[in-house]
Amino acid sequence: MPSSGAEAVEVCNPAKGEVIARAPLSTARDVDAAVAAATKAFPGWAETPPVIRARAMFRFRALLEEHFEEIARQVTIEHGKTLDESRGSVRRGIECVEVACGAPSLLMGYGLENVASGIDCVAMRQPIGVCAAISPFNFPAMVPLWFLPFAVVSGNTFVLKPSEQVPLSMRRVFQLLEQCDLAPGVVNLVNGGREVVEAICDHPGIRAVSFVGSTPVARLVYQRATHAGKRVQALGGAKNFVVVMPDADLDRSIPVITESFYGCAGERCLAGTVLLPVGSVHDEARNRLIASAQALTLGDGLDPGVTMGPVISRKHRDRVLNYVDHGVAEGAALVLDGRNAQVVDRPDGFWVGPMVFDDVAPSMAIGRDEIFGPVASVCRVKTLDDAIRIMEAHPNANATSIFTSSGKTAREFSHRATASMVGVNIGVAAPMAYFPFGGARDSFFGDLKVHGRDAFDFYTDRKVTISRWF
Ligand code: NAD
Repeated sequence: MPSSGAEAVEVCNPAKGEVIARAPLSTARDVDAAVAAATKAFPGWAETPPVIRARAMFRFRALLEEHFEEIARQVTIEHGKTLDESRGSVRRGIECVEVACGAPSLLMGYGLENVASGIDCVAMRQPIGVCAAISPFNFPAMVPLWFLPFAVVSGNTFVLKPSEQVPLSMRRVFQLLEQCDLAPGVVNLVNGGREVVEAICDHPGIRAVSFVGSTPVARLVYQRATHAGKRVQALGGAKNFVVVMPDADLDRSIPVITESFYGCAGERCLAGTVLLPVGSVHDEARNRLIASAQALTLGDGLDPGVTMGPVISRKHRDRVLNYVDHGVAEGAALVLDGRNAQVVDRPDGFWVGPMVFDDVAPSMAIGRDEIFGPVASVCRVKTLDDAIRIMEAHPNANATSIFTSSGKTAREFSHRATASMVGVNIGVAAPMAYFPFGGARDSFFGDLKVHGRDAFDFYTDRKVTISRWF
């Protein structure tokens, strides 16, 4: 159904700085219509046997594979990340669909005979109703797929609101969903921004809300939707610390760390942002990071050989550059300056070159805030304890990594880290679709995390029946 709103938002190709589409902004009335359709579809879908619901996901998976390259290109065109990065993100999304295909096993309940003489007890999972998800700009295809397959295969009906900055990938994915034998209203797409998000939080017909975005909005969505009685999981922003120990294998670690800080132009909730080389390794780790960042090729993500794309928008580029200017003003040493980066043939792209700051204090804005761009902040720390203390003092706790060749150090770090996703000699500690994904503290509001077994708990009620036969 077309949007009832008169307003539209311009969607840009960030590598060219040019408008490629105008997406209509949905309104609260459109949310009403989507929820009405989802509510109507719910009883029939909830009664559909899980094995048949899973077959729809098998079809969905096959269609995503068939259109893999097309979707990955669409992600690059509207977001800017390199084609390889887009392919990786679409692959991660497909893995979620694959896990959802196992629903007949994963939705099983459990039971016990004779909880008292002649009395049996079973717990069964039942779908909860209309579920909604709201996603950010940085993973146009993957993040919606953290939710949709699990919600739908569990027997719920679903409303998705992608970021208004990148609505095109999901528009294509929803066209594929039309070929999956889902009844009308099982999946619904609305566009738009704040008005639509607020309508989703408040809508009495929606039972559960999943949100991914910045911490301030995640907190608002969590408060507003829980206040309206909904089940909510709200994933927020991040400031991820990467520790390098003197015993780290730098030849192998630095390429991984470079990818961690500059992959997806730093627009990743799992991106490394603060490098904490411990003690004597500081100068060498910093110098090698600079050299490795200098070797990146900035450009249009569709072009072969490009290893870093643009940031999402002119406004976001200005925000990143403001942080950099502020870092210089606060006294940090800008040892790799990417402020004037340009790309031949793409003069209007939203370019920010890779940057490294040294001597960053955790209290500086660049050491504290999520910049969401290709900017590494290197801090001086003497010991692992100092590094962990810096992490503990930060309100976000999404992901962290350590590079070391000592199992004992790695074990201690993993045990003490405040972040919920820990990498050991891994730069981007992204759990696979069959493990839970999500942070802690100000990076996550809620209880049950994303995908893995948590998803089936989030999207079902566990109904317990206790029975005795006279
Ligand atoms: P954002 O918070 O600006 O937007 C996220 C969603 O909320 C969008 O759909 C947007 O339309 C909506 N929105 C924006 N402002 C709103 C408001 N005031 N009221 C209601 N809704 C609003 O985030 P973004 O810029 O699209 O994405 C980047 C952020 O997402 C970063 O902070 C990043 O760390 C975070 N993120 C987190 C994870 C995670 O797993 N924790 C994953 C991806 C991205």
